[in-house]
Amino acid sequence: MDHSSPFVAKPDHQEALGFPGELVDNWQEKAIEKMGELLTKYRSLKVFLDSCVKCGACTDKCHYFQGTSDPKNMPVARQDLLRNVYRRYFTLAGKYFPKLVGAQDLTEDVLDDWYKYFHQCSQCRRCSVFCPYGIDTAEISMAAREILDHVGKGQKYCNEIIGKVHKVGNNLGLPEPALVDTLEGLEEDVEEETGHVVRFPVDVQGADVLLITPSADFFAEPHIDGLIGYAKVFHQAGISWTLSSYASEAGNFGMFIGSYEQMQKISWRIRKIAMELGVKRIVVGECGHAWRVAYSFWNTLIGPFDFLDQNYPVPQHICEVTLDLIDKGAIKLDKEANDDKVITYHDSCNVSRGTRMGNMEGGQFIVPRRVIKSAVNHFVEMNPETTFDKTYCCGGGGGLLTDDLLELRVKGALPRMEALKTVIEDQKVTHMAAICAICKSQFSKVMPYYDIPMDSIISVHQLVGDALIMGNNDS
Ligand code: SF4
Ligand code: SF4
Repeated sequence: MDHSSPFVAKPDHQEALGFPGELVDNWQEKAIEKMGELLTKYRSLKVFLDSCVKCGACTDKCHYFQGTSDPKNMPVARQDLLRNVYRRYFTLAGKYFPKLVGAQDLTEDVLDDWYKYFHQCSQCRRCSVFCPYGIDTAEISMAAREILDHVGKGQKYCNEIIGKVHKVGNNLGLPEPALVDTLEGLEEDVEEETGHVVRFPVDVQGADVLLITPSADFFAEPHIDGLIGYAKVFHQAGISWTLSSYASEAGNFGMFIGSYEQMQKISWRIRKIAMELGVKRIVVGECGHAWRVAYSFWNTLIGPFDFLDQNYPVPQHICEVTLDLIDKGAIKLDKEANDDKVITYHDSCNVSRGTRMGNMEGGQFIVPRRVIKSAVNHFVEMNPETTFDKTYCCGGGGGLLTDDLLELRVKGALPRMEALKTVIEDQKVTHMAAICAICKSQFSKVMPYYDIPMDSIISVHQLVGDALIMGNNDS
């Protein structure tokens, strides 16, 4: 996969984020300097680079290695791209006996390999589950991308999108009037279909719940059917809620480029608008990495959240909201409405290995499954080697969901597609549900390459919305 390399960010995309516009003249010196800074800042990075014993347990665990057979896509080999340079400049043995310890100068070829192969890692952390030392390739990959940005060789897809969030408020670059228009259209569609006036409110001062959801939910199927599902749940439960036109994006690509500064800047919009609107709760829609940023990082980056209602989890996932309402009997579902479907569930990597739900061990696996099973009669699991904490990335996570990486995305989807095909053939599965916008987009695109219809991927809250028994809550 030496030929697989995403488009390099243009000077405009780089400079908008405070990075050099193009590769700087003294890039080698700058890269080593940045590596030194990261090693001091993130002790985990140094531990990960020092502690690999080359046991080989991770070698065949990456979906990109399984799909491409490129040895540099073995997690340990990917790590070594950075580790060898680390040894050369930051260890005594590497400085004086480089050949003995596999230390390597930072040459232009090495920098090229970093750019290519750290953009063939979706930072899914599956390899770390199998590593006896818990070495997290995702963190190494994030560090490498941060160094690349710092020397002026960032990735176009991620950096352009982050720029759009800063400028317009969301990854799609959807301006406020278009958002409002879309939501009004949805209200009409839902009323036509159900006979109920379900609101999709924006910028409502004093609403109880601020819903932060991926902008894909405003745009295309199957995402939009999930948004309809959330709206129906809030409507039926009588919860006052609002979206924000200012913070109209849950996704946070700052994590993908390894920049905590960008992650914080993007997250800050959410705290700001939550305070301005005076909401009591922040609920996150179906987006895997956004939930990871919210669950694992928000408190450090933009907390404390002492201005929110402490009787609810902070932040709260939409699946937690829905399950709580089901358990309390505040909403009722008719499973038969989904009897035309046999559902399986794809655990999204960031949710599975970076978060929790429901304040219980394994809640991130239990809560979405309980929501699905409340909405459908026919549910089957895929091969346990491919689900729960051993789940595979969809192949498009970590900032790789771009057409210039399509070959990689198709190949990286292989393990999930094989597991899905098995349950389609053996157990007549018709749809795979997911709670991640990237997974849904990626699968819609790559499923046809595996002879699976693109509409076989479905939002969990579409299942909920379709099964929800609507009452007399119209306003
Ligand atoms: S983090 Fe995921 S994509 Fe990256 S090397 Fe590990 S298994 Fe592969
Ligand atoms: S499993 Fe861990 S220790 Fe073993 S080769 Fe992979 S990264 Fe190194």
